[in-house]
Amino acid sequence: MNNADPQELAKFSELAHRWWDPDSEFRPLHRLNPVRLEWIDRAVGGLKGKQVLDVGCGGGILAEAMALRGASRVQGIDLAVKPLRVAQLHALEAGVGNVDYREVSAEALAAEQPAHYDVVTCMEMLEHVPDPASVVRACAQLVRPGGWVFFSTINRNAKAFLFAIVGAEHVLRLLPKGTHEYAKFIRPSELAKACRDGGLELVHTRGMEYNPLTERFRLSDDTSVNYLFACQRPVP
Ligand code: SAH
Repeated sequence: MNNADPQELAKFSELAHRWWDPDSEFRPLHRLNPVRLEWIDRAVGGLKGKQVLDVGCGGGILAEAMALRGASRVQGIDLAVKPLRVAQLHALEAGVGNVDYREVSAEALAAEQPAHYDVVTCMEMLEHVPDPASVVRACAQLVRPGGWVFFSTINRNAKAFLFAIVGAEHVLRLLPKGTHEYAKFIRPSELAKACRDGGLELVHTRGMEYNPLTERFRLSDDTSVNYLFACQRPVP
């Protein structure tokens, strides 16, 4: 059984053809991508030469950027087929050869290739999954000892409801209505526990703030809405 919600996957498949349109529903991902890329690149001491896995890669905005940044290979995985096709086609058109895409769950890949990757990223995905702790565990199994795992998701509290759902979906219309479900948001303490249980050490926590006037994202210490974790799998 896949740890996936078919309605969530259908939602992303329906929009897939617009994934690389920076003025589409995916505009927020395009706007925040450089910020997270820089942060990841710095945290791991340079993506250059690294084996990278991007879990829930969608149309490949981050996966392709990490490949262009010099990763030796980026593997993108997702369970929605259309976004994967879009991602593959975009990489082909952009002439990016060191990235490829596959329809497989993190859990299944973890059984196939444990401890294989230097860096695993899983961004804006856990809040769409029935059992996020299972994905965290799989990511922890996929990374080699000493390697890095990155997560980003949305906190669960009144402010996050106001900003991420009311603000983003209803007022600013950055995202289609129904993109996010409040109950699936994840508190940093919950994600931290899942990381610990999976055998990961939480190294850095950052908040991500959005300024609607400049349409810019920036990292901050405020984890009350969007936030990111950088974790390491300890060397035994
Ligand atoms: N990580 C990308 C895309 C985020 S959108 C980025 O940040 O740019 C969320 C993605 O998670 C979608 O592509 C969706 O298909 C994927 N997803 C949802 N549930 C999933 C699951 N159970 N397994 C793998 N991917 C999933």
